[in-house]
Amino acid sequence: MNVQGEIVCLHCGHANGNWAGVAGEPLTYRGCAAAPYGTAPGDPVRCQRCGGSVYLDAATHTSTSARARRIRLLRRQLAAWDDEAA
Ligand SMILES: [Zn+2]
Repeated sequence: MNVQGEIVCLHCGHANGNWAGVAGEPLTYRGCAAAPYGTAPGDPVRCQRCGGSVYLDAATHTSTSARARRIRLLRRQLAAWDDEAA
């Protein structure tokens, strides 16, 4: 399941932008919308102001476009089955 949220520093409270990725995975720069220059995708995200540890604030679940397509397809199939049964 995918999540997205805002990266917030545990030490100074600075908002460091948005992160999106798989729920439960460590916050690495791979999931950042705009990673700072010189960071590797697999590096853990640190606060851009003080270098402190960060957490994902106001995390919400997101769905991928492939999942949304599957849901639409299943809804059409269910509607077709309902039409046949009626
Ligand atoms: Zn900080």
